[in-house]
Amino acid sequence: MKKKLLLHICCAPCSASAVKMLKEEFDISFYWHNPNIYDKEEYIKRKEAAIRYASGLGVPFFEEKDFSYDYGGWKTRGSEQCGNCYRLRLDKAASFAKSNGFDFFSTSLLSSPYQKHDLIKQIAGELSEKHSAAFLYKDFRTEFYEGKNSLRQAGYYVQKYCGCAKSLEERYGKKQNSGE
Ligand code: SF4
Repeated sequence: MKKKLLLHICCAPCSASAVKMLKEEFDISFYWHNPNIYDKEEYIKRKEAAIRYASGLGVPFFEEKDFSYDYGGWKTRGSEQCGNCYRLRLDKAASFAKSNGFDFFSTSLLSSPYQKHDLIKQIAGELSEKHSAAFLYKDFRTEFYEGKNSLRQAGYYVQKYCGCAKSLEERYGKKQNSGE
């Protein structure tokens, strides 16, 4: 019997490489918790794509029952911002994995060459200890572009910036009215 893996999914395109590299070995479920995404319209587009992808694969899709989108509640800037962002999301994933009988948790954040890969690995390791939940580390970056392109060709929404208002500013070079 396959081991149960809870894969924190930051978006559908980044998840494709992880799914490809894990699906033979693990019984995968998706876990959505990404309150870092600005703005709400963008959040909904990414979430809908993730749900559609889960449905197409026949993979369970989980999220926090009591969560409702509130970007204004997430206000971290400066050098610690990405670390805080990873921690915020993976803390929930590790906790959910532990509470719901998963053998491992992991994250599609490990697929993107644009993310701080070693920092994600380090933080996930810390949260693994905190929650006594086993973290599965794999470098999914080798399949990133192939995975992303396959979803783009299948008509999935593919975003152009990481997620927060700052990353949107960096992508388009203008200040966003995020309330931060
Ligand atoms: S750039 Fe991406 S990882 Fe860093 S804080 Fe913004 S959304 Fe999070």
